[in-house]
Amino acid sequence: MSKISMKTPLVEMDGDEMTRILWSMIKDELLTPYIDLKTEYYDLGLKHRNETDDKVTVEAAEKTKELGVAVKCATITPNAARVKEYDLKEMWKSPNGTIRSILDGTVFRTPILVKGIEPCVRNWEKPITLARHAYGDVYKNVEIKVPGPGKGYLVFEDEKGNEVRELIQDFKSPGILQGIHNLDKSIDSFAHSCFNYALDSKQDLWFATKDTISKKYDHNFKDIFTEVFEKEYKDKFEEAGITYFYTLIDDAVARIMKSRGGMIWACKNYDGDVMSDMVSSAFGSLAMMTSVLVSPDGNYEYEAAHGTVQRHYYKHLKGEETSTNSVATIFAWTGALRKRGELDGIKELSEFADLLEKATVSTIESGRMTKDLALITSMSNVKVQNSADFIKEIRNTLENR
Ligand code: NAP
Ligand code: MG
Repeated sequence: MSKISMKTPLVEMDGDEMTRILWSMIKDELLTPYIDLKTEYYDLGLKHRNETDDKVTVEAAEKTKELGVAVKCATITPNAARVKEYDLKEMWKSPNGTIRSILDGTVFRTPILVKGIEPCVRNWEKPITLARHAYGDVYKNVEIKVPGPGKGYLVFEDEKGNEVRELIQDFKSPGILQGIHNLDKSIDSFAHSCFNYALDSKQDLWFATKDTISKKYDHNFKDIFTEVFEKEYKDKFEEAGITYFYTLIDDAVARIMKSRGGMIWACKNYDGDVMSDMVSSAFGSLAMMTSVLVSPDGNYEYEAAHGTVQRHYYKHLKGEETSTNSVATIFAWTGALRKRGELDGIKELSEFADLLEKATVSTIESGRMTKDLALITSMSNVKVQNSADFIKEIRNTLENR
Protein backbone atom coordinates (compact mmCIF):
# COMPACT_ATOMS: atom_id res chain seq x y z
CA MET A 1 0.00 0.00 0.00
CA SER A 2 1.39 3.41 -0.89
CA LYS A 3 1.65 6.05 1.80
CA ILE A 4 -0.67 9.06 1.98
CA SER A 5 1.11 12.12 0.67
CA MET A 6 0.85 15.59 2.11
CA LYS A 7 1.05 18.99 0.43
CA THR A 8 1.72 21.61 3.11
CA PRO A 9 3.91 20.60 6.05
CA LEU A 10 2.63 20.72 9.63
CA VAL A 11 4.57 22.80 12.12
CA GLU A 12 5.86 20.16 14.53
CA MET A 13 6.82 21.37 18.01
CA ASP A 14 8.61 18.67 19.96
CA GLY A 15 8.63 18.86 23.76
CA ASP A 16 9.89 17.41 27.01
CA GLU A 17 10.16 14.37 29.27
CA MET A 18 7.64 11.51 29.02
CA THR A 19 5.56 13.19 26.35
CA ARG A 20 8.69 13.56 24.19
CA ILE A 21 9.17 9.78 24.46
CA LEU A 22 5.52 9.18 23.51
CA TRP A 23 5.90 11.68 20.65
CA SER A 24 8.49 9.63 18.79
CA MET A 25 6.70 6.34 19.52
CA ILE A 26 3.50 7.75 18.01
CA LYS A 27 5.34 8.96 14.94
CA ASP A 28 7.17 5.65 14.43
CA GLU A 29 4.26 3.31 15.08
CA LEU A 30 1.16 5.19 14.04
CA LEU A 31 2.09 7.88 11.54
CA THR A 32 5.16 7.34 9.37
CA PRO A 33 4.19 3.78 8.33
CA TYR A 34 1.06 5.21 6.69
CA ILE A 35 1.81 8.84 5.84
CA ASP A 36 4.62 10.47 3.95
CA LEU A 37 4.81 12.83 6.89
CA LYS A 38 5.80 16.38 6.01
CA THR A 39 6.66 18.64 8.93
CA GLU A 40 8.70 21.72 9.72
CA TYR A 41 10.38 20.52 12.91
CA TYR A 42 11.02 22.80 15.91
CA ASP A 43 12.60 21.38 19.03
CA LEU A 44 10.87 23.08 21.96
CA GLY A 45 12.54 20.74 24.43
CA LEU A 46 13.84 22.86 27.31
CA LYS A 47 17.49 22.18 26.48
CA HIS A 48 17.10 23.57 22.97
CA ARG A 49 14.94 26.47 24.12
CA ASN A 50 17.76 27.42 26.45
CA GLU A 51 20.40 27.06 23.72
CA THR A 52 18.42 29.36 21.41
CA ASP A 53 17.49 31.88 24.15
CA ASP A 54 13.91 30.69 23.57
CA LYS A 55 13.97 32.04 20.00
CA VAL A 56 12.88 28.62 18.77
CA THR A 57 9.47 29.08 20.41
CA VAL A 58 8.92 32.40 18.68
CA GLU A 59 10.08 30.94 15.34
CA ALA A 60 7.71 27.98 15.69
CA ALA A 61 4.78 30.31 16.41
CA GLU A 62 5.70 32.56 13.47
CA LYS A 63 5.88 29.52 11.20
CA THR A 64 2.40 28.52 12.39
CA LYS A 65 1.09 31.87 11.19
CA GLU A 66 2.61 31.11 7.81
CA LEU A 67 1.55 27.45 7.42
CA GLY A 68 -1.69 27.53 9.43
CA VAL A 69 -1.55 24.25 11.36
CA ALA A 70 0.77 23.15 14.17
CA VAL A 71 1.00 20.17 16.51
CA LYS A 72 2.71 20.62 19.86
CA CYS A 73 4.11 18.21 22.43
CA ALA A 74 3.82 19.12 26.13
CA THR A 75 6.71 21.27 27.34
CA ILE A 76 8.21 22.21 30.68
CA THR A 77 7.37 25.66 31.98
CA PRO A 78 10.51 26.42 33.96
CA ASN A 79 10.39 27.21 37.67
CA ALA A 80 13.31 27.59 40.09
CA ALA A 81 13.84 23.82 40.31
CA ARG A 82 13.98 23.49 36.52
CA VAL A 83 16.47 26.36 36.22
CA LYS A 84 18.80 24.30 38.40
CA GLU A 85 17.99 20.94 36.80
CA TYR A 86 18.67 22.20 33.26
CA ASP A 87 21.25 24.84 34.19
CA LEU A 88 19.15 27.48 32.41
CA LYS A 89 20.44 30.91 31.40
CA GLU A 90 17.17 32.34 32.71
CA MET A 91 13.69 31.25 33.75
CA TRP A 92 12.20 31.15 30.24
CA LYS A 93 8.49 31.95 29.94
CA SER A 94 5.78 29.38 29.38
CA PRO A 95 5.97 28.30 25.71
CA ASN A 96 2.17 28.11 25.59
CA GLY A 97 1.98 31.71 26.80
CA THR A 98 4.48 32.83 24.16
CA ILE A 99 2.69 30.98 21.37
CA ARG A 100 -0.71 32.24 22.53
CA SER A 101 0.40 35.83 22.58
CA ILE A 102 1.76 35.55 19.01
CA LEU A 103 -1.22 33.65 17.57
CA ASP A 104 -3.77 35.56 19.70
CA GLY A 105 -6.38 32.93 20.15
CA THR A 106 -8.88 30.99 22.16
CA VAL A 107 -8.24 27.54 23.64
CA PHE A 108 -10.90 24.91 23.00
CA ARG A 109 -10.86 21.75 25.12
CA THR A 110 -13.10 18.74 24.51
CA PRO A 111 -13.23 15.45 26.41
CA ILE A 112 -12.72 12.24 24.43
CA LEU A 113 -15.61 9.92 25.24
CA VAL A 114 -15.06 6.19 25.56
CA LYS A 115 -17.56 3.50 26.53
CA GLY A 116 -16.60 2.17 29.93
CA ILE A 117 -15.35 5.51 31.20
CA GLU A 118 -18.54 7.29 32.14
CA PRO A 119 -18.75 10.95 33.16
CA CYS A 120 -19.69 11.56 36.81
CA VAL A 121 -22.65 13.59 35.57
CA ARG A 122 -25.00 10.87 34.31
CA ASN A 123 -26.95 13.01 31.84
CA TRP A 124 -23.83 14.21 29.95
CA GLU A 125 -24.15 12.08 26.83
CA LYS A 126 -22.07 14.24 24.54
CA PRO A 127 -18.81 16.07 25.18
CA ILE A 128 -18.88 19.65 26.44
CA THR A 129 -16.28 21.84 24.78
CA LEU A 130 -14.89 24.66 26.86
CA ALA A 131 -13.71 27.81 25.06
CA ARG A 132 -11.56 29.91 27.36
CA HIS A 133 -10.68 33.52 26.64
CA ALA A 134 -6.97 33.66 27.37
CA TYR A 135 -6.34 37.40 27.87
CA GLY A 136 -6.61 39.87 30.74
CA ASP A 137 -8.99 40.08 33.71
CA VAL A 138 -7.56 38.82 37.00
CA TYR A 139 -4.57 37.22 35.19
CA LYS A 140 -3.19 40.67 34.44
CA ASN A 141 -4.35 42.47 37.56
CA VAL A 142 -2.91 45.18 39.79
CA GLU A 143 -3.54 44.93 43.50
CA ILE A 144 -3.07 47.12 46.55
CA LYS A 145 -3.28 46.08 50.18
CA VAL A 146 -4.97 48.99 51.93
CA PRO A 147 -3.31 49.51 55.32
CA GLY A 148 -5.98 51.73 56.87
CA PRO A 149 -8.40 54.63 56.34
CA GLY A 150 -8.21 56.44 52.96
CA LYS A 151 -9.85 56.61 49.53
CA GLY A 152 -9.38 54.11 46.70
CA TYR A 153 -10.02 55.39 43.16
CA LEU A 154 -10.24 53.98 39.66
CA VAL A 155 -8.54 56.52 37.37
CA PHE A 156 -8.19 56.69 33.59
CA GLU A 157 -6.02 59.36 31.99
CA ASP A 158 -6.23 59.84 28.22
CA GLU A 159 -3.31 60.87 26.02
CA LYS A 160 -4.09 64.57 26.54
CA GLY A 161 -4.08 64.17 30.30
CA ASN A 162 -7.89 64.34 30.80
CA GLU A 163 -8.99 62.24 33.72
CA VAL A 164 -11.98 60.06 34.51
CA ARG A 165 -12.11 59.20 38.21
CA GLU A 166 -14.43 56.88 40.13
CA LEU A 167 -14.37 56.40 43.87
CA ILE A 168 -14.11 52.69 44.61
CA GLN A 169 -14.28 52.85 48.37
CA ASP A 170 -13.89 55.33 51.18
CA PHE A 171 -12.01 53.02 53.54
CA LYS A 172 -12.53 53.44 57.27
CA SER A 173 -10.38 50.39 58.06
CA PRO A 174 -7.79 48.13 56.33
CA GLY A 175 -8.83 46.27 53.16
CA ILE A 176 -7.82 45.38 49.60
CA LEU A 177 -8.09 46.87 46.10
CA GLN A 178 -7.82 45.30 42.64
CA GLY A 179 -7.63 46.74 39.11
CA ILE A 180 -8.28 44.62 36.02
CA HIS A 181 -8.71 45.35 32.32
CA ASN A 182 -9.50 43.84 28.96
CA LEU A 183 -9.30 45.02 25.34
CA ASP A 184 -12.14 45.27 22.81
CA LYS A 185 -9.78 43.86 20.20
CA SER A 186 -9.09 40.76 22.25
CA ILE A 187 -12.76 40.20 23.10
CA ASP A 188 -13.63 40.66 19.44
CA SER A 189 -11.15 37.99 18.35
CA PHE A 190 -12.38 35.71 21.15
CA ALA A 191 -15.89 36.07 19.74
CA HIS A 192 -14.77 35.33 16.16
CA SER A 193 -12.84 32.24 17.28
CA CYS A 194 -15.89 30.92 19.14
CA PHE A 195 -18.36 31.54 16.32
CA ASN A 196 -16.01 29.97 13.77
CA TYR A 197 -15.37 26.94 15.96
CA ALA A 198 -19.12 26.44 16.45
CA LEU A 199 -19.63 26.53 12.68
CA ASP A 200 -16.67 24.21 12.09
CA SER A 201 -17.89 21.62 14.60
CA LYS A 202 -21.64 22.23 14.03
CA GLN A 203 -22.42 22.71 17.71
CA ASP A 204 -24.45 25.33 19.56
CA LEU A 205 -22.48 28.08 21.28
CA TRP A 206 -23.22 29.24 24.82
CA PHE A 207 -21.65 32.33 26.34
CA ALA A 208 -22.12 33.62 29.85
CA THR A 209 -20.87 36.48 32.03
CA LYS A 210 -22.15 38.38 35.07
CA ASP A 211 -23.45 41.40 33.16
CA THR A 212 -26.32 42.12 35.59
CA ILE A 213 -23.77 43.00 38.27
CA SER A 214 -20.90 44.19 36.09
CA LYS A 215 -22.86 46.62 33.94
CA LYS A 216 -19.87 47.99 32.02
CA TYR A 217 -17.10 45.40 32.18
CA ASP A 218 -19.00 42.15 31.65
CA HIS A 219 -21.68 43.92 29.64
CA ASN A 220 -18.98 44.91 27.17
CA PHE A 221 -18.24 41.20 26.54
CA LYS A 222 -21.92 40.52 25.97
CA ASP A 223 -22.31 43.51 23.63
CA ILE A 224 -19.29 42.62 21.52
CA PHE A 225 -20.46 39.01 21.14
CA THR A 226 -23.97 40.19 20.15
CA GLU A 227 -22.59 42.71 17.66
CA VAL A 228 -20.19 40.24 16.02
CA PHE A 229 -22.92 37.60 15.86
CA GLU A 230 -25.57 39.87 14.33
CA LYS A 231 -23.17 41.31 11.80
CA GLU A 232 -21.29 38.24 10.58
CA TYR A 233 -22.62 34.93 11.87
CA LYS A 234 -26.40 35.01 12.30
CA ASP A 235 -27.15 33.77 8.78
CA LYS A 236 -24.35 31.22 8.81
CA PHE A 237 -25.64 29.78 12.10
CA GLU A 238 -29.17 29.53 10.68
CA GLU A 239 -27.83 27.75 7.63
CA ALA A 240 -25.85 25.31 9.78
CA GLY A 241 -28.84 24.72 12.06
CA ILE A 242 -27.04 25.79 15.21
CA THR A 243 -27.78 28.51 17.77
CA TYR A 244 -25.97 31.14 19.79
CA PHE A 245 -27.25 31.50 23.33
CA TYR A 246 -26.27 34.09 25.95
CA THR A 247 -27.14 33.80 29.62
CA LEU A 248 -25.83 34.69 33.08
CA ILE A 249 -22.88 32.63 34.30
CA ASP A 250 -24.77 31.17 37.28
CA ASP A 251 -27.69 30.25 35.04
CA ALA A 252 -25.25 28.66 32.57
CA VAL A 253 -23.70 26.52 35.31
CA ALA A 254 -27.11 25.25 36.39
CA ARG A 255 -28.18 24.51 32.81
CA ILE A 256 -24.89 22.78 31.92
CA MET A 257 -25.32 20.38 34.85
CA LYS A 258 -28.80 19.45 33.61
CA SER A 259 -27.85 19.31 29.93
CA ARG A 260 -27.00 16.35 27.73
CA GLY A 261 -23.80 18.06 26.58
CA GLY A 262 -22.86 18.60 22.97
CA MET A 263 -22.33 22.37 23.11
CA ILE A 264 -19.43 24.81 23.16
CA TRP A 265 -19.34 26.81 26.36
CA ALA A 266 -17.46 30.08 25.98
CA CYS A 267 -16.13 31.49 29.24
CA LYS A 268 -14.25 34.57 30.34
CA ASN A 269 -10.68 33.88 31.45
CA TYR A 270 -11.32 33.04 35.12
CA ASP A 271 -14.59 31.18 34.55
CA GLY A 272 -12.84 29.15 31.84
CA ASP A 273 -9.93 28.32 34.12
CA VAL A 274 -12.22 26.97 36.83
CA MET A 275 -14.89 25.38 34.66
CA SER A 276 -12.47 23.55 32.36
CA ASP A 277 -11.00 21.67 35.33
CA MET A 278 -14.49 20.84 36.54
CA VAL A 279 -15.65 19.62 33.14
CA SER A 280 -12.47 17.63 32.40
CA SER A 281 -12.35 15.85 35.75
CA ALA A 282 -16.07 15.07 35.56
CA PHE A 283 -15.47 13.44 32.17
CA GLY A 284 -12.54 11.35 33.44
CA SER A 285 -8.99 12.58 32.88
CA LEU A 286 -6.80 15.28 31.35
CA ALA A 287 -5.19 12.57 29.23
CA MET A 288 -8.60 12.05 27.58
CA MET A 289 -9.00 15.60 26.37
CA THR A 290 -8.26 17.36 23.11
CA SER A 291 -6.97 20.90 23.14
CA VAL A 292 -6.65 23.31 20.26
CA LEU A 293 -5.71 26.96 20.07
CA VAL A 294 -7.68 28.70 17.33
CA SER A 295 -6.58 32.15 16.22
CA PRO A 296 -9.00 34.70 14.78
CA ASP A 297 -7.23 34.60 11.42
CA GLY A 298 -7.65 30.86 11.12
CA ASN A 299 -4.46 29.31 12.48
CA TYR A 300 -4.67 26.12 14.53
CA GLU A 301 -2.32 24.69 17.13
CA TYR A 302 -3.18 21.23 18.48
CA GLU A 303 -1.72 19.88 21.74
CA ALA A 304 -2.42 17.61 24.70
CA ALA A 305 -4.05 19.29 27.69
CA HIS A 306 -1.77 17.60 30.25
CA GLY A 307 1.87 18.26 31.11
CA THR A 308 5.08 16.34 30.48
CA VAL A 309 4.24 13.64 33.09
CA GLN A 310 7.53 14.16 34.91
CA ARG A 311 7.07 11.40 37.51
CA HIS A 312 6.70 8.76 34.78
CA TYR A 313 9.73 10.14 32.95
CA TYR A 314 11.99 9.68 35.97
CA LYS A 315 10.79 6.09 36.23
CA HIS A 316 11.51 5.65 32.52
CA LEU A 317 15.03 7.04 33.01
CA LYS A 318 15.62 4.48 35.74
CA GLY A 319 14.69 1.76 33.26
CA GLU A 320 11.37 1.05 34.95
CA GLU A 321 8.21 0.34 32.99
CA THR A 322 5.67 3.16 32.62
CA SER A 323 2.02 3.13 31.70
CA THR A 324 1.55 6.65 30.36
CA ASN A 325 -1.62 7.50 28.46
CA SER A 326 -0.81 8.71 24.94
CA VAL A 327 -4.40 9.38 23.81
CA ALA A 328 -4.33 13.19 24.10
CA THR A 329 -1.03 13.33 22.21
CA ILE A 330 -2.36 11.00 19.48
CA PHE A 331 -5.45 13.21 19.17
CA ALA A 332 -3.23 16.29 18.88
CA TRP A 333 -1.69 14.67 15.79
CA THR A 334 -5.01 13.51 14.35
CA GLY A 335 -6.53 16.95 14.91
CA ALA A 336 -3.67 18.60 13.05
CA LEU A 337 -3.62 16.03 10.23
CA ARG A 338 -7.40 16.26 9.74
CA LYS A 339 -7.26 20.06 9.57
CA ARG A 340 -4.31 19.90 7.13
CA GLY A 341 -6.31 17.44 5.02
CA GLU A 342 -9.32 19.78 5.02
CA LEU A 343 -7.28 22.86 4.12
CA ASP A 344 -5.32 21.12 1.37
CA GLY A 345 -8.23 19.06 0.05
CA ILE A 346 -6.54 15.72 0.84
CA LYS A 347 -9.45 13.49 1.76
CA GLU A 348 -7.29 10.44 2.59
CA LEU A 349 -5.39 12.44 5.20
CA SER A 350 -8.55 13.48 7.06
CA GLU A 351 -9.95 9.97 6.74
CA PHE A 352 -6.75 8.52 8.17
CA ALA A 353 -7.10 10.87 11.16
CA ASP A 354 -10.66 9.63 11.73
CA LEU A 355 -9.52 6.03 11.45
CA LEU A 356 -6.66 6.45 13.91
CA GLU A 357 -8.99 8.09 16.44
CA LYS A 358 -11.49 5.26 16.07
CA ALA A 359 -8.73 2.67 16.46
CA THR A 360 -7.55 4.42 19.64
CA VAL A 361 -11.04 4.52 21.14
CA SER A 362 -11.89 0.94 20.20
CA THR A 363 -8.59 -0.34 21.63
CA ILE A 364 -9.64 1.11 24.99
CA GLU A 365 -13.21 -0.14 24.59
CA SER A 366 -11.84 -3.64 24.03
CA GLY A 367 -10.31 -3.46 27.50
CA ARG A 368 -6.69 -2.65 26.64
CA MET A 369 -5.70 0.59 28.29
CA THR A 370 -3.13 2.43 30.38
CA LYS A 371 -3.16 2.38 34.18
CA ASP A 372 -4.79 5.79 34.68
CA LEU A 373 -7.87 4.59 32.78
CA ALA A 374 -7.89 1.13 34.34
CA LEU A 375 -8.31 2.87 37.69
CA ILE A 376 -11.51 4.67 36.66
CA THR A 377 -13.16 2.34 34.17
CA SER A 378 -16.41 0.50 34.84
CA MET A 379 -15.20 -2.36 32.60
CA SER A 380 -14.08 -5.64 34.06
CA ASN A 381 -11.36 -7.86 32.51
CA VAL A 382 -9.12 -4.93 31.80
CA LYS A 383 -5.61 -5.47 30.48
CA VAL A 384 -3.25 -2.75 31.73
CA GLN A 385 -0.58 -1.96 29.18
CA ASN A 386 2.71 -0.18 29.33
CA SER A 387 3.30 3.00 27.31
CA ALA A 388 4.85 1.27 24.29
CA ASP A 389 2.51 -1.73 24.20
CA PHE A 390 -0.59 0.45 24.32
CA ILE A 391 0.58 2.27 21.19
CA LYS A 392 1.40 -1.07 19.53
CA GLU A 393 -2.10 -2.32 20.38
CA ILE A 394 -3.57 0.73 18.67
CA ARG A 395 -1.46 -0.10 15.62
CA ASN A 396 -2.83 -3.64 15.63
CA THR A 397 -6.39 -2.34 15.77
CA LEU A 398 -5.59 0.06 12.95
CA GLU A 399 -4.07 -2.70 10.80
CA ASN A 400 -7.12 -4.91 11.37
CA ARG A 401 -9.33 -2.18 10.00
P1 NAP B 1 1.30 16.54 34.40
O1 NAP B 1 2.47 16.31 33.54
O2 NAP B 1 0.01 16.79 33.71
O3 NAP B 1 1.15 15.30 35.38
C1 NAP B 1 0.50 15.32 36.61
C2 NAP B 1 0.06 13.92 36.99
O4 NAP B 1 -1.13 13.61 36.29
C3 NAP B 1 1.04 12.84 36.61
O5 NAP B 1 2.03 12.67 37.58
C4 NAP B 1 0.13 11.65 36.43
O6 NAP B 1 -0.30 11.10 37.66
C5 NAP B 1 -1.09 12.29 35.80
N1 NAP B 1 -1.00 12.33 34.32
C6 NAP B 1 -0.95 13.44 33.54
N2 NAP B 1 -0.90 13.09 32.26
C7 NAP B 1 -0.92 11.76 32.20
C8 NAP B 1 -0.88 10.81 31.15
N3 NAP B 1 -0.80 11.21 29.87
N4 NAP B 1 -0.91 9.50 31.45
C9 NAP B 1 -0.98 9.08 32.74
N5 NAP B 1 -1.03 9.95 33.77
C10 NAP B 1 -1.00 11.26 33.52
O7 NAP B 1 1.54 17.80 35.35
P2 NAP B 1 2.80 18.18 36.26
O8 NAP B 1 3.49 16.95 36.73
O9 NAP B 1 2.26 19.14 37.21
O10 NAP B 1 3.77 18.95 35.31
C11 NAP B 1 4.92 18.40 34.69
C12 NAP B 1 5.49 19.41 33.73
O11 NAP B 1 4.56 19.66 32.70
C13 NAP B 1 5.80 20.75 34.39
O12 NAP B 1 7.14 21.10 34.10
C14 NAP B 1 4.84 21.71 33.73
O13 NAP B 1 5.44 22.96 33.51
C15 NAP B 1 4.50 21.05 32.44
N6 NAP B 1 3.16 21.34 31.90
C16 NAP B 1 3.08 21.53 30.56
C17 NAP B 1 1.84 21.73 29.95
C18 NAP B 1 1.80 21.92 28.46
O14 NAP B 1 2.82 21.98 27.81
N7 NAP B 1 0.65 22.01 27.87
C19 NAP B 1 0.70 21.73 30.72
C20 NAP B 1 0.80 21.50 32.10
C21 NAP B 1 2.04 21.30 32.67
P3 NAP B 1 0.49 9.93 38.43
O15 NAP B 1 1.85 10.43 38.69
O16 NAP B 1 -0.34 9.77 39.65
O17 NAP B 1 0.48 8.71 37.55
MG1 MG C 1 -6.28 26.13 36.03
